Amino acid sequence: MNALQIVTRKIEPVMEVQTRVIDYMTRYMVGEGFKWMLPVMLSSITDPLWPDPAAEEALRPPEVEVYGSRLRLTHSMILHKQMAVAMGIDKLFILSPNVRLEGRSADDGRHAYEFTQLDFEIAHASMDDVMSLIEGLISGLFKEARSWGLEREVPRVKPPFKRFTLEEIKEEFGDEDEASKVMKEPFWVTDIKREFYDREDPERPGHFRNYDLYLPEGYGEVSSGGEREWEYEVIVRKMRSAGISLEAFRPYLEVAKAGLLKPSAGAGIGVERLIRYMVGAKHIAEVQPFPRIPGVPAVI
Ligand code: AMP
Ligand code: MG
Repeated sequence: MNALQIVTRKIEPVMEVQTRVIDYMTRYMVGEGFKWMLPVMLSSITDPLWPDPAAEEALRPPEVEVYGSRLRLTHSMILHKQMAVAMGIDKLFILSPNVRLEGRSADDGRHAYEFTQLDFEIAHASMDDVMSLIEGLISGLFKEARSWGLEREVPRVKPPFKRFTLEEIKEEFGDEDEASKVMKEPFWVTDIKREFYDREDPERPGHFRNYDLYLPEGYGEVSSGGEREWEYEVIVRKMRSAGISLEAFRPYLEVAKAGLLKPSAGAGIGVERLIRYMVGAKHIAEVQPFPRIPGVPAVI
């Protein structure tokens, strides 16, 4: 696409849907008693995204030198969410812009290298608390959207959504994306080994108290979250075994070492992915006025 093609595309109806979706989601969160925080876009620390040092290497956040310190563009605000909970903000959400420079191969129709999540965290919450909050949001949104005159019909969905462990998904469908193609309603995938901050079940080591929400019709993952680790020793052990440099996370570890992190749980919902599903778009570029697609040079 060139600049003229971008500017003459018919994107206004998508923005109409986006406005309604963001309006619905923010009203829902405020109604549930959440405080609305503004995003941090540059920080000395950000989400490593994956404990595998090789993956971290491939997805290094862009850095800028600012007043003598090296700041990174936000991958996600997970570490800031935990520290905001430490500040006493017990229920918070952010419309958080994230930049993730993923490889060209990530152009699968649902990856953008600049996107926004509705990111939230709740002090002392369990995975069940977060999952029912999201189920309430999604089922209420789909219900309201049925009166918007959308070009496609979103399903009537009723909580609780189906839950599978990742292991069950693999046995039954092969993988999550295959399951997404087969399923007619949103569903959960739980117990996924990933970043150090997602809580390992203390009673079942090797199992994780985290969850992803998948959309049906092959639209794939729309939300990820988990209960969090908050104990310094556990965090350090998991960082070490993932080969993550402790020095690179110094301010976070200082807060953890002082015993200030609290147990919490939360999740992030990908705004563009949700809009893409609501409007039935084939590619996420169709819902971004200024597309940011891995492997494709940005024009504007
Ligand atoms: P994560 O915790 O990394 O799974 O990110 C939270 C949510 O943000 C995901 O479930 C997606 O909905 C969305 N998201 C993550 N990465 C991307 C991306 N590259 N492009 C668009 N949305 C994304
Ligand atoms: Mg995810």
